[in-house]
Amino acid sequence: MANKFEITAVKGREILDCRSYPTLQVDVWVNDAVLGRANVPCGRSTGTNEAYELRDGGKRYSGFGVRKAVDNINRIIAPEVVGEDVRNQRKLDQLMIELDGTENKAKLGANAILGVSLAIAQAAASSLGISLYKYIDVNAHILPVPVLDLIEGGKLAASELDFQEHQVIPVGAKSFSEAIRMGMEVYYELGNILAEKWGKHSLNVGVEGGYTPPGMKDPREAFDAELLAIQKLGYEDEFVLSLDCAASHFYIRETGKYVFMGKEITRKELMDFYKELVSSYPLQSIEDPLQEEDFDGFAELARTLNIQIIGDDLFVTNINRLRKGVEKGAANALLFKVNQIGSLSEALDAAQFAFRNSYGVQVSERSGQTEDTWLADLAVGLNAGQIKTGVARSERTSKYNRLLQIEEELGSAAKYAGREFRQPF
Ligand code: PEP
Ligand code: MG
Repeated sequence: MANKFEITAVKGREILDCRSYPTLQVDVWVNDAVLGRANVPCGRSTGTNEAYELRDGGKRYSGFGVRKAVDNINRIIAPEVVGEDVRNQRKLDQLMIELDGTENKAKLGANAILGVSLAIAQAAASSLGISLYKYIDVNAHILPVPVLDLIEGGKLAASELDFQEHQVIPVGAKSFSEAIRMGMEVYYELGNILAEKWGKHSLNVGVEGGYTPPGMKDPREAFDAELLAIQKLGYEDEFVLSLDCAASHFYIRETGKYVFMGKEITRKELMDFYKELVSSYPLQSIEDPLQEEDFDGFAELARTLNIQIIGDDLFVTNINRLRKGVEKGAANALLFKVNQIGSLSEALDAAQFAFRNSYGVQVSERSGQTEDTWLADLAVGLNAGQIKTGVARSERTSKYNRLLQIEEELGSAAKYAGREFRQPF
């Protein structure tokens, strides 16, 4: 009799992400009966050191097609993986990494390898009849705080704000479902406030569903509007603010300066600005405050600001870059994006290394998302305590909806990370 955990087929296909750019979907069949399916996300404000995303080039889809990656899955990866036991995640990830043979997965494509890697995990969980989060960790029970990007700028929006994400976190909620309700009430109220002061075009949304007020340039104006919405609802003790600055994307390599609010400023001036923000606002977390190679600057901010400092483009979910960061004391939290490194096992290694070194872990979407929901399961499976996946539009709310299901499934075992989101145990 065939092994009931044997992979019997692997198939990749080209689908669309939420921006209508092509991306990959992968099916992994077990014992010809159980399907594991995963969609691959894509970034826009990507880090220079991310694993290689294979695109076709040429005219089709303006060069963004992924047919080569599909071909690599169906012709090169599938024959190696078929016949293997689906529960051997690490062995199968290593097999694909060796098959690729490059430092950054440039031959087969990190998108191709990751799609198969995630579909294998889904298929293994389904074969065992359990949810993906439980497959990741039998003790998974922490529901993350949602880090809600209510006002967008940078590369994710047609607004004049230089920082990418001006977020609010409902840390004072008693449960995940309460956090989502409170967060969405603030989102609606903020819409009214912005439309009145900044005009109805404020209600146009960016890639992650956050508002894009025309003419707003100063992040303090974004914070003021968010705090007003929070106060109007009587939630001032329940919310904190956070930021993703995505600073590599307004950094000028040639001059070593940043272009911020229409002026060239030095690294020191930008760091002083963060100090001022932290002293004037309930700001608890800053992602990528400086450009992606400034480990020393990230260390100085982690030492002096006494809040969460997250490395996204800095670490790119790569354990080697994270190791260097830990040695230098750079940042104190990892942004966890599986497609930055290109396999589930390597991403889990990075998260575990972060936890062991008392770094926080924020599980994150990419701006190019799909309706798939594995991200929610990973956030709970890691007991990470924090997730960012935008605010509105179905490719975002699908993750929140999945977390609501998980909360229900866990019942009284579920614990909302709340104010302990940086170290939720
Ligand atoms: C981010 O920078 O954190 C982000 C979500 O953007 P992207 O996916 O475009 O890298
Ligand atoms: Mg970021």
